[in-house]
Amino acid sequence: MDLASPSTNPTYSSPAITSPATATTATTALVAATTSPSSTPSRYENQKRRDWNTFCQYLRNHRPPLSLPMCSGAHVLEFLRYLDQFGKTKVHNQTCPFFGLPNPPAPCPCPLRQAWGSLDALIGRLRAAYEEHGGRPEGNPFGAKAVRIYLREVRDFQAKARGVSYEKKRKRPKPRVTAAPPQPAPPPAESSAG
Ligand SMILES: [Zn+2]
Repeated sequence: MDLASPSTNPTYSSPAITSPATATTATTALVAATTSPSSTPSRYENQKRRDWNTFCQYLRNHRPPLSLPMCSGAHVLEFLRYLDQFGKTKVHNQTCPFFGLPNPPAPCPCPLRQAWGSLDALIGRLRAAYEEHGGRPEGNPFGAKAVRIYLREVRDFQAKARGVSYEKKRKRPKPRVTAAPPQPAPPPAESSAG
């Protein structure tokens, strides 16, 4: 007698269909341009060289012509103001209703400027480049007092205008590992029943 063979499961090969329902993985998170503070040295060097070339070109186009040894802090300030026209950071005027708002609800006609952080880093690179190109440290126009004052004013004003804080965090507090000291458990108070 043949027992009815158990219905053999047909090898049910489902074709691998990429169902469109699973296409939700395409939602990529918008990654805001994360500028990592620890940039590689080569990137810094490249940027420094580009900055230096930009500045030298600025000197060549300057009227009246300027040579590097003639360059003073005042010329550096001129250069920084010239760069503002290429800025991308909205800096509200004091008369703007959005003055001091980090996230303004509407557009406004306030100018775009170079962000203070960009200028500060730029000056640092140019200051180094100047000395690498044979400039004397004591005559470094990028280290001039006027430049330092200007940068501080830009920082303070942009912080107010944009409602942000540029607090310097030089010393990062080390994450202290507080090992919980073994607390001697107090002996249970023996209440003398009585
Ligand atoms: Zn504004």
